[in-house]
Amino acid sequence: MEPKVLKNYIDGEWIESQSDELLNVRNPATNEVIAQVPMSTTDEVDEAVQAACVAYQDWRETTPFARARYMFRLKNFMEERFEELSQIIVQEHGKIIDEARGEVRRGIENIEVAAGVPSLMLGYNMEDVSQGIDEDCVYQPAGVFCCVAPFNFPNMVPLWFLPYAVACGNTYIVKPSEQCPMSQNMLFEILDEIDFPPGVVNLVNGDKRAVDALLEHPDMVGVSFVGSTPVGKYLYAKAAQHGKRAQVQAGAKNCLVVMPDSVLNQTIPSIMTSSFGTSGQRCLSGSLVVAVGEVYEPLKEKILEAASQIKVGYGLDETVQMGPVVSKKSLDRILGYIEKGLEEGATLSLDGRGVTVENYPDGNFLGPTIFSDVTPEMTIAQDEIFGPVLGIIPVDSFDEAMDVIHRSPFGNAASLFTTSGKWAREFKYRVQVGNIGINIGIAAPIASFPFSGMKDSFFGDLHGQGRDAIQFFTERKVVISRWF
Ligand code: NAD
Repeated sequence: MEPKVLKNYIDGEWIESQSDELLNVRNPATNEVIAQVPMSTTDEVDEAVQAACVAYQDWRETTPFARARYMFRLKNFMEERFEELSQIIVQEHGKIIDEARGEVRRGIENIEVAAGVPSLMLGYNMEDVSQGIDEDCVYQPAGVFCCVAPFNFPNMVPLWFLPYAVACGNTYIVKPSEQCPMSQNMLFEILDEIDFPPGVVNLVNGDKRAVDALLEHPDMVGVSFVGSTPVGKYLYAKAAQHGKRAQVQAGAKNCLVVMPDSVLNQTIPSIMTSSFGTSGQRCLSGSLVVAVGEVYEPLKEKILEAASQIKVGYGLDETVQMGPVVSKKSLDRILGYIEKGLEEGATLSLDGRGVTVENYPDGNFLGPTIFSDVTPEMTIAQDEIFGPVLGIIPVDSFDEAMDVIHRSPFGNAASLFTTSGKWAREFKYRVQVGNIGINIGIAAPIASFPFSGMKDSFFGDLHGQGRDAIQFFTERKVVISRWF
C-alpha cells in the first residue's frame, strides 16, 4: 500500500499541498515508511496566514467563556482518542507507549489550564491615579501567532502554546516537525471535529522554507519555537529582524548531581528514567551524572547494574523500557559521539552498540551506553548528544559540581540528589538553569508553571505554559480616563 501523503489544514479544510517535495516519515523501530509529508510552499504559508487573519476578526470578539468552551471540547475529544494518539506517537517517534501516554496527558493539562482564560485574562485598574482620573489595564489578543515544533514531543509541544493563544482570542498556525508530523495531523483531525470557526487553527507542514515564510510574513505577530540551539538562535534573530515577538526554547545538557548523603536506592531509578527515558531524547534528559566525593564508586556500580537491565525494543510492546532513536541520521550522530568519548579517553563502562532486538532488525536501536571517568573538558561532557549516552564525572566537592554545570553554555535543567536541606537550598539559590529538580530526575514543570530555561537553552523573556503564555499571547493596553 502506498503511504498516506499528509495534507495541510487551512481555513477549516484539509488541503493537498502543491509542493512536489515529499519527505518519508519512518517508524524508527522498523524503518518502514508510514507516511509522506509535503514541504509546503511560501504561497501555502501565505494562504494559512491570510485565513488566520480573516478568522481573527470574529474570533477576538467571541467571549472568553465561549472560547474556553472549545478547550473543554478539545480536552474531551482528546481523552476519547487518548490511546490512538499515544500509539501514533510511538509509531512516528519510537518512544515507549507509557511515555507517549505521559506526553498526551501533559498536552491535555495545558488545554485544562488554558480553559481558565476567563480568569487568566482579567486586567486590573486603579481609581484616582490623579484627581478624578482612573487607569485601567486590559488584556487583548494580538493577532496571528505560529509555532515551530521539534520531533521529540511531537504531540505535546504545540499544546504548550496553541490552547493559550486561541483561548486568548488569537488565531494560530502550527508547523510540526517534518520528522514526526503524524500525531499533530491527528490533533488537527480532532480540532476539525470540534468545529473551530474556519481559520482559527491551521496546520502547515514543511521545513525551513515554511518557517522562513512564517517569520517574514507581515501579518504574523509572533512565534513560539522549540528545537535545537543553532536553529533557535537563527530563528530568534530573524524574528527580531522582522519585528516579531518570539519565545525560543532550545537545546540542553543537563547534570544530575549526586551528593554522598543521597539515598542511592531512590536516586538510581530517577537517574534511569532521566537519562534513558525517551532514549535520552528529551530536553530534560540527564546527560551527565556528577558524583560528589566517595559516592562515585558505589553510584557507578549501581547505575551500571540498573542500566544493563533496561529492556530495549519496539515501544508498542508494553514490557519494553526503551525504544529506538528517531532516525538513522540521529543514530549515526550518537555513534560518532561514542567514538569521540573513546578517543578522548573516557572509559566505556557500558556499550549499547551491539544491541539487537528480535523481529526488528532494521530499527535504530542503541542500548544504554555509559562512560565513566569523564572530565568536563571532553566533547561528550559539553555537546548535547540527544541519545541514550550517559557520562559520569567524579568531583571532590559541591562547589566543583556547580562549576561543571556552569561551564556549559546551556541552562535548561539540573537536579540535585541529597538528604541535606542546606545543600538543596544552596543548589536552588545558585544554579543557573531554568528547571531545577531536588531528588527529581526530570524537572518538567506542569502546565500552570512556565517551562523555563536560560542561557543557550532559552531566548526571549516569556516562556511557554501558564501565566507566561497568557502574557505572551496578549497586548496590555492602558486606558487613562477622566469624565467632565
Ligand atoms: P531542530 O532544531 O532540528 O528542529 C526544530 C524545528 O525547526 C523543526 O520544526 C524544523 O523543521 C525547524 N528547522 C530546522 N532547521 C531549520 C532552519 N535552518 N531554519 C528554520 N527552521 C528550521 O530540533 P529537533 O531535532 O526537531 O528537536 C530536538 C531539539 O529540541 C533538541 O536540541 C532539544 O533539546 C530541543 N528541545 C528543547 C526543548 C525546550 O523546552 N528547551 C523541548 C524539546 C526539545
